Amino acid sequence: MSRIRDVLTPEGSSRPLVDTFQRRISYLRLSVTDRCDLRCSYCMPERMQFLPRKEVLSLEELYKLSLGFIARGVTKIRVTGGEPLVRRDIIELFQALGRKLGEKGHGGLEELTLTTNGTQLPSHAEALAQAGVRRVNVSLDTLDPARFAELSRRDALPQVLEGIAAASAAGLKVKINAVALKGINEDEIPDLIAWAHGQGHDITLIEVMPLGDVEEDRVDHYLPLSQVREILERRWTLTPSAETTGGPARYDRIEETGGLLGMITPLTNNFCSGCNRIRVTATGQLYPCLGGGERVDLRAALRSDNPEANLQQALNEAMTIKPERHHFDISQRGAAPAQPRHMSVTGG
Ligand code: SAM
Ligand code: SF4
Repeated sequence: MSRIRDVLTPEGSSRPLVDTFQRRISYLRLSVTDRCDLRCSYCMPERMQFLPRKEVLSLEELYKLSLGFIARGVTKIRVTGGEPLVRRDIIELFQALGRKLGEKGHGGLEELTLTTNGTQLPSHAEALAQAGVRRVNVSLDTLDPARFAELSRRDALPQVLEGIAAASAAGLKVKINAVALKGINEDEIPDLIAWAHGQGHDITLIEVMPLGDVEEDRVDHYLPLSQVREILERRWTLTPSAETTGGPARYDRIEETGGLLGMITPLTNNFCSGCNRIRVTATGQLYPCLGGGERVDLRAALRSDNPEANLQQALNEAMTIKPERHHFDISQRGAAPAQPRHMSVTGG
């Protein structure tokens, strides 16, 4: 029996979440921990300072928060982190949220999904599928074990590949996410795509973003996807696809492999005008923009005397401060990050 009790739908308006630029927010990225079992060098430093556990929302609070969003028209929740599957008992949150799937009309959820590094999928894939998860994004930047160990500072490639296989065996549709990194995996990107498509997985490439200090200069490893596309087009026929997952990726079908290739290009091609998402950290801080410092404290609302009303008020406030766009720039050597928060804190 789940330890997470169901709770009443928070009172307050069921008004949809619409920001001042008339963008309807229907997609929540919920970080459940900032901790991780890997230390990808573009994401965090080796000696990452993690949050004290008492600051992190309980599973019950994460659930209540999610219900508050669902009541305001959020139809898709992506659980992320840090590494979401290293959080103890996290499957209970998936099970509780999974019961909200398909309740269309009255605050129903249409999709529950997660982004993971895959290391814990061997033991969790089956339970995720049982909870109602249908798709999973697995981050994988290289298929070379030594390169993986260097990049993630942990020797975990076999575990990740086993996790991907376990996800497929459990019936989950796997999408591979790979950050394109100059001098690190740029020579391997075509092979990574060919491998993913050969396994029946779609793959999305991501431009590295200047979030948080890491032990390297972002300029050294920033690889514009416009360059990658040129190289890929010498080998394959890329046909633009109308496919969309409601996110910022633009998709092409690679005719020769038959698979889909997504590209997320926050640096070379801004996509903010269609943004439908909002992010909440593991401590309940709502960041309406990944690249902005604007924030609303949902934990304070949740832990107040009148949590339901205060949560709704906080969501209304968030709609007034969501910025029009981010201003990422990776051109100046030694420049400070666009935001001091690491991606693992805000939730990738
Ligand atoms: N640990 C999980 C994982 O790796 O999939 C979920 C959290 S991770 C922060 C989510 C995604 O963000 C991963 O695909 C990761 O590669 C990506 N990421 C991390 N730091 C990034 C950065 N600075 N720029 C672009 N993508 C980044
Ligand atoms: Fe961990 Fe994901 Fe960041 Fe890698 S990208 S260190 S797996 S949170």
